[in-house]
Amino acid sequence: MDIIVGKLSGFCNGVSNTIKRASSSLDQYKKVYCLGEIVHNERVISDLENKGMITISSIDDAPNNSKVIIRAHGEVKETYDKAKEKNIELIDLTCGKILIIKNKITKKKEESFITIIGKKNHPETLGIKSFSNGYSYIVENEEDIEGLINEFNNSKLNKMFVVSQTTFNASKFDKLTNIIKDKIPGEIEIDKTICNATSDRQEETKELSKQVDKMIIVGGKHSSNTKELENISKENCKYVYLVQEAKDLNKEDFSINDKIGIMGGASTPEIIVKEIIDFLEKEVK
Ligand code: SF4
Repeated sequence: MDIIVGKLSGFCNGVSNTIKRASSSLDQYKKVYCLGEIVHNERVISDLENKGMITISSIDDAPNNSKVIIRAHGEVKETYDKAKEKNIELIDLTCGKILIIKNKITKKKEESFITIIGKKNHPETLGIKSFSNGYSYIVENEEDIEGLINEFNNSKLNKMFVVSQTTFNASKFDKLTNIIKDKIPGEIEIDKTICNATSDRQEETKELSKQVDKMIIVGGKHSSNTKELENISKENCKYVYLVQEAKDLNKEDFSINDKIGIMGGASTPEIIVKEIIDFLEKEVK
């Protein structure tokens, strides 16, 4: 069996920084709330919860005067306002690359309509949108462009500033922005704010999935970047398995003659990839 692990598999800088800083906050304060899953990986979450982290789904669930982590995806503006009202100390671990997008939007929002290419219900996309002054729209698919045209016309603005969710598919971004440029008159500034960690990993996944018989993508069920890696692999490889851990694999799906590619998402610890390699080497006959 030939196993190739992607060079870019595993934690991106943003996730690695989040986990380190969350862990040191717990050493310092013992009890810290976290707004949403800190990263999309059950093992990482349970390790931090064992140290005293409590996962909550809304800032309303955090007591007054408590300490609350904002994870790498960032949060909507309303969360920051509510935290102030409740005298909550925020441990803001929003990834620097997402803060840069929010700053750009803050600068452009007076003169330009803001379009965000990304998943409509993703916390990062909603967080970015909340920093616009209301003249903004999220485009996830081609079907959303009609709605964008209506909103843009209603805004009476004649400039548009387009950004991306950091983990969005790079080629889909290009396709959607080309349609926008074709259909919408006026000055359109496109800023492809896809994170390099994401686009490079997607590119490597594409190349790797072309070379192997079977592809294993390792990551959380709720992870947008992992889902994207699965979709990219399926375009090039007939057998693609999206798993969280080695126990999710079925040894009957593999044979000793297979060439297997493995790519971990941005929230996948290296140890889980090692366990998958061990499983394949020991269990597959
Ligand atoms: S994928 Fe990029 S933007 Fe997202 S957390 Fe990682 S480094 Fe930050």
